[in-house]
Amino acid sequence: MNNVNTPMMDQYLNIKNQYKDVLLFYRMGDFYELFFEDAVVASQALDIALTKRGKSNGKDIPMCGVPFHSADNYLPKLIKKGFNVAVCEQTETAEEAKIKSKKGPLKREVVRIISPGTLTEDNLLERKTNNFLGALSDNNGSISIAWVDVSTGYFKSRNIQEDNKSSTKQLLANLLLRMNFSELLISEDFDLDLIVEEWHSILKKQPPSLFHYSSCLDQILSYYSIVSLEGVGSFSDGEIKAAAVLLSYLKLTQCGKIPLLSMIQTETQNNFLEIDYFTQKSLEIFNNLSGGTEGSLISCLDETKTACGARLLKQRVIEPFCKIEQIQDRYDLTNWIIENKINISQYQIDFENIPDLERSLSRISLSRGGPKDLFLMSNGLLIIKGIYEDLISHNQDGKTPSLLNFIIDNLDIDYSLFSNINKAFKSNVPIIAKEGNFIKEGYNKELDLLRNYRNYELDHIAKLQKKYSDLTNVNSLKIKHNRMLGYHIEVRALHDESMRNIDLFIHRQTTAQTSRFTTVELNDVENQIINSFEKALKIEIDIFNNFVTQILDKGKEILNVALSISELDISIMVANQSISRNYTCPNILEEKTLEIFGGRHPVVEQQMNLNEKSFIFNDCILNKRDFIWLITGPNMAGKSTFLRQNALIVIMAQAGLFVPAQKANIGIFDKIFSRVGASDDLAKGQSTFMIEMIETSLILNTATDKSLVILDEIGRGTSTFDGLAIAWSVLEYLHEKIKPRTLFATHYHELTSLKENLKNLSCHQMSIKEWNDSIIFMHKILNGEADKSYGIHVAKLAGLPLDVTHKATKLLSNLKRKDREKQHMRTDDPVISEKNKDEEFFREFDRINVDEITPRQSLDILYKLKLLRNMNE
Ligand code: ADP
Ligand code: MG
Repeated sequence: MNNVNTPMMDQYLNIKNQYKDVLLFYRMGDFYELFFEDAVVASQALDIALTKRGKSNGKDIPMCGVPFHSADNYLPKLIKKGFNVAVCEQTETAEEAKIKSKKGPLKREVVRIISPGTLTEDNLLERKTNNFLGALSDNNGSISIAWVDVSTGYFKSRNIQEDNKSSTKQLLANLLLRMNFSELLISEDFDLDLIVEEWHSILKKQPPSLFHYSSCLDQILSYYSIVSLEGVGSFSDGEIKAAAVLLSYLKLTQCGKIPLLSMIQTETQNNFLEIDYFTQKSLEIFNNLSGGTEGSLISCLDETKTACGARLLKQRVIEPFCKIEQIQDRYDLTNWIIENKINISQYQIDFENIPDLERSLSRISLSRGGPKDLFLMSNGLLIIKGIYEDLISHNQDGKTPSLLNFIIDNLDIDYSLFSNINKAFKSNVPIIAKEGNFIKEGYNKELDLLRNYRNYELDHIAKLQKKYSDLTNVNSLKIKHNRMLGYHIEVRALHDESMRNIDLFIHRQTTAQTSRFTTVELNDVENQIINSFEKALKIEIDIFNNFVTQILDKGKEILNVALSISELDISIMVANQSISRNYTCPNILEEKTLEIFGGRHPVVEQQMNLNEKSFIFNDCILNKRDFIWLITGPNMAGKSTFLRQNALIVIMAQAGLFVPAQKANIGIFDKIFSRVGASDDLAKGQSTFMIEMIETSLILNTATDKSLVILDEIGRGTSTFDGLAIAWSVLEYLHEKIKPRTLFATHYHELTSLKENLKNLSCHQMSIKEWNDSIIFMHKILNGEADKSYGIHVAKLAGLPLDVTHKATKLLSNLKRKDREKQHMRTDDPVISEKNKDEEFFREFDRINVDEITPRQSLDILYKLKLLRNMNE
């Protein structure tokens, strides 16, 4: 039995020991190889062959591998499946090992751990989406969270303060959905019950020792080189722990380096319009109901041109403001752009040419950026300089909106570094600095000399070739170059012997066709070339590194520039939409009101425009006296569309955007809730009603009188009477207890009788026209209630066969008749039964032939009539 491993396997095991929980990509020549359990797991995840290499303790070692140059194709697959990958490179060359006359395998080190939450590469990231890494901490039951986007430097924290576990869990669920974390760090002893099952797959457990307060605080202070966090914000102990755990994780995965992060900010609760988990889903803010992005609010709105702008817009839409000033600042800037006739299309072209500043900067700060990052970034910043100058030139009259002031201040930096880089770099730069040849001629004298020298030497080689060919009389003699031999003389094999007879030529190699030689002179020239090449490369790399240092010194300023450009990008987009889409600037108020005149649904309108149809405008007017609208109307009449368009208009307005309406007065909201009753989708199973009720109860427990509540067919998930009863009591509760502005759509016509008792509720209907036995949907909201439900008409419109709809019409009238008869039996309809009984009474009365009856018979008849009469009382 062989108990001894090869030296290479010893080295592997040593390294693997330090990286137990991750897949180890171990570099062997042109491959990354994985061994043992890693190989089994990765071969399955990547669907590549599992083979074996050598033995360990007498057993085969499972192995799989991927070529290093195509690692970029394989890594994303593993990362997306939630694996972390440690990349272990050869950190010395064979030549270096030889010089040190070292035995055994080449030196190898893990240079980086790639994890879903710490990516920086553009090909692994979505351009318009932040990639968040989060950490949770539990400080004696009070939960805090911190999150960071390594690729952009965004860093925040907040506390999750709720009285009980279930509302903490709910709030956390909202946050997890909002941030869409790629990885979430928790302590090994964190209470898993607090995290919704759906998110368990992204959890990464960390040793509890990382969560010690004082070392956590030290870590943050030393990262930012500050002595106290007091000037930054008031952070809880939990936030500090969570933030520091993020820093530790970054340090671990980036092998000692922590990327450039903006100053951590703490986010207080109620800092923005809260859009909970179910609302975000039901309003299709980021995704449609089937999970894609088509038809979502963001895909309809987003016409930003920069990656940073797109990310900021996404954040705005899910975290709209809830302070009037912040919203008004955005409107002011957009209005300024319109009034000052800023050249919108020129700005948008400029924006398109600005690279992703945040992500380039992050790569540079992790030594992962190359000349291309630096070059594109500098070009982008020079474009921004032009934008800055244009803004200044328009800003003469002194009425500067405060957001514009903020932007101008941030853009007012020294741009000379970027013109220097622009002057130094060739326009066609490589991604990696080691490739060299990216500095322009004329930028550095020494570099030019070395390059000239290299050209001179290449010329020298051409001369040598001529000389050797003359000397040997072999016309086909060539000086060639390959990786193994470097420069060498090549002749056909038949000249082998005559060449060997000349002392000058040193034999190197013979193959079937060719013989190869070298000379002392040729070796010298080659050394000179290598030498000058290396020297030139060193100069280029020095220049590059020098620029990197200067860029990093300006890192914070560049992040601020990026933020300002994002704001400007969004405002320019909104100014454009005010024309291209006829969106208007809302009035944002403190009062309890929601007045939308001529409102449209942004997404449905856009889709209809594509088909050259026009969307019907609708008003929505809620205020203190009339804060609940109960909306009836048949299926397909446009109830859901109306409900959602008003919710979306509120979200857009509070996000600082213009809205699809002729006029909108929006009294600011604190939270927005939207629920859609479970559809009759049997595949979803019985729990739909339960889910519907859980969703609804959350509203009743957390909405306030400053919230907007949108309820669409609540109660639909259960039998008619239960559903009606629940809808009824939910409405009453909202009306009496919470008093939020509410839009409630229902097909229960019975609910409209609530208007008698609930004085702040009014009834509205989606109008329809009956025409030749069918109906036309007007999609217009009117006062009053709809009188019937028109289900069969809708079925006809949907293309159900005529036989079916005829039968249904018959059945319906049967059912209605039976329903009436049932009601007679129950005699709970006094009008009808009274009439019937009267008829019988009179029939009996009419039958009496007074001349023919005996006194006895007359008495009987009287009793009978009396009985009939009694029944009526
Ligand atoms: P409901 O909820 O009453 O069943 P929906 O809101 O789902 O009705 O609307 C049904 C369809 O009617 C939508 O898909 C849309 O195409 C159209 N629609 C709704 N509102 C309007 C409108 N205001 N203008 C034009 N078409 C509309
Ligand atoms: Mg509907």
